[in-house]
Amino acid sequence: MKTWVFSTESDGHAGSAALEALSKARSFGGDLGVIHVGPGSEAALAELGDHGATSVLQIAEGSAAALAAGLAEAAGSQQPDLIVFGAGNLDRDVAGRLSARLGKPVLANAVDIAVDGDALQVVNEILGGTQRVTTSFAGGSPAIVITRPKAFAAEPSGGGAPAVTTLELPDVGHAGDVEVLSQHVEESSGPDLEAAAVVVSGGRGIGDADKFSMVHELADLLGGAAGATRAVVDAGWVPYSYQVGQTGKTVKPDVYVACGISGAMQHLVGMKDSTTIIAINKDPEAPIFGVADLGIVGDVHNVIPALVEALKARA
Ligand SMILES: Cc1cc2nc3c(=O)[nH]c(=O)nc-3n(C[C@H](O)[C@H](O)[C@H](O)COP(=O)(O)OP(=O)(O)OC[C@H]3O[C@@H](n4cnc5c(N)ncnc54)[C@H](O)[C@@H]3O)c2cc1C
Repeated sequence: MKTWVFSTESDGHAGSAALEALSKARSFGGDLGVIHVGPGSEAALAELGDHGATSVLQIAEGSAAALAAGLAEAAGSQQPDLIVFGAGNLDRDVAGRLSARLGKPVLANAVDIAVDGDALQVVNEILGGTQRVTTSFAGGSPAIVITRPKAFAAEPSGGGAPAVTTLELPDVGHAGDVEVLSQHVEESSGPDLEAAAVVVSGGRGIGDADKFSMVHELADLLGGAAGATRAVVDAGWVPYSYQVGQTGKTVKPDVYVACGISGAMQHLVGMKDSTTIIAINKDPEAPIFGVADLGIVGDVHNVIPALVEALKARA
């Protein structure tokens, strides 16, 4: 089994999606290589090695069209069985173009990948995560897979530095004439929502934008990050970077506190795999209680201040 994982460097580090995919791909055995786009900092390469990569094809930079062309050539000569991408914009762009160049299908939004003898299987969740579909690739390698964020836990294996080879990209003419001029990273304080061990999210039940400060206060006291539902983001109470769910972020913290959130399918899909879910809602029939480990039936305007007071008393 020869697996390649697509990685993009950010601030001198390997992407989290690549480290997650590498951790999973170690269980397949065989060769584990990385297509790494970026300057190739010592720290990024060490992280890739530490998560199981034994070889790295290093590409300084390139448009999605050129990256796909370079990858298609490399795949033709080196014959990987599986190429795994994350869910980032560049990942999706390159995976789609690579699929077209190689004439192989892409299975996107994978939550699991399994090797069964010679067959590669991909698991997807449908209908808001209520059903799982397993699909096998037919038609030869390489299989191209795009994974959902947090599909796998990133776990270091203690591997050493990988062997690095530079990959030159072919000229793709006008197809490569697209230049990314700038990228906007939303300013945020406190822990990163997708990496935080504790997430406190607020829904429409919080009432209004001013009252959302109590979600921040509870998150701060728990050393966590604040999140929100789409209803709250659409109302303009907090920026889109807070949104958890189908069209927002996927989180898997140790503790997820849902405050005034009904538990719509599109929200659940982004947080239902949290280890412990605590829901506060005044409606005992709210669907969020269906996924909660602990439920408080009550008004958030009473419950959250009481929690804040209790946490401050313990500090
Ligand atoms: C294509 C599509 C994509 C979507 N993507 C997302 C997504 O990524 N993320 C997402 O979150 N949603 C998403 N949605 C929207 C989703 O369907 C819901 O509309 C949304 O999640 C509801 O948000 P909410 O729970 O804050 O609001 P509501 O559904 O209005 O629920 C508010 C809850 O607060 C409770 N409540 C009210 N007052 C109080 C109080 N004082 N104390 C305690 N509880 C109280 C109520 O009982 C209720 O359960 C998407 C929808 C579509 C169609």
